[in-house]
Amino acid sequence: MNIIDKLYIVRRALIAQIRNEFPSALEITTIFPCRNACKFCPQDKWRNVYQGKHRLTYDEFCKVLEKIPKHVRIDFSGFSEPFLNRESSLMMLRAYQSGHQVTLYTTLVGFRQEDLNIIKDIRFAACQLHVPEDTNFKVPDEDKWLEAYKLFARHVHYDAALYYLGYLSSKMKSELRNVRSINSVLTRANNVHPDIAPPLPRHKGVIKCWSSGNRFNQNVMMPNGDVYLCCMDWSLKHKLGNLFEQSYEEFHQSEEYHKICRSMSDESIETICRYCERSRSRFYKL
Ligand code: SF4
Ligand code: SF4
Repeated sequence: MNIIDKLYIVRRALIAQIRNEFPSALEITTIFPCRNACKFCPQDKWRNVYQGKHRLTYDEFCKVLEKIPKHVRIDFSGFSEPFLNRESSLMMLRAYQSGHQVTLYTTLVGFRQEDLNIIKDIRFAACQLHVPEDTNFKVPDEDKWLEAYKLFARHVHYDAALYYLGYLSSKMKSELRNVRSINSVLTRANNVHPDIAPPLPRHKGVIKCWSSGNRFNQNVMMPNGDVYLCCMDWSLKHKLGNLFEQSYEEFHQSEEYHKICRSMSDESIETICRYCERSRSRFYKL
């Protein structure tokens, strides 16, 4: 084996290691807005700035999917509840059948038997439920929500059922499996209302994105195909491109992408990363 071959193998091994540590993912937002309106969610910020179409169609999703490299995980989460779009379950199946890892983050609002029929054989790489309580995410009819939960949980494996603020009813406690409370609420780069999550001061000096390892490869797509930096960008400050019109590779070469890269060591550049929990000083690992 000559030196060129050896270098090639080392390079491939390094790429594989980085991919494992900071996996690429695209969050799909299938509908605008999210009618759940959880207290800790900056829906108001999103509603004020988003101007595109409200619903992603299955056909649009399939065209986008053809452009996404297979190593990119497809996350059904984004800025709204996936099952509020009647075609989301078909999109999940399509992504899974085309060889992507697929994850699901859901409140189960809108989930029905028809969805189950479509997704029941998908092995989600991760699946988390966000369950209703008395403060943050409230549902008008707990029994109806529990029906959807039982339907889902009988057939689909989920990793955890989480709630973030407030208390669960005793009925919920007795019915839910693997439920736990998450006490901390992120500011989402200071997009969450200050009464819920006190704003962070601007980070100074050299910073690092501890989510993506400064690869900025965990992006969010809107129903109109626009792609934004990450799940913190509720005010839509950093548009990287549009997947209806461009390739996946193109938006990782965009001017905005390069600006974000530069901003990590140049504090004169204003980005949301300066206000994010996941970008503390590079010498302070969360
Ligand atoms: S937290 Fe999730 S379910 Fe709640 S309003 Fe926001 S997007 Fe919707
Ligand atoms: S806002 Fe936070 S999570 Fe998003 S890219 Fe910047 S540092 Fe990473």
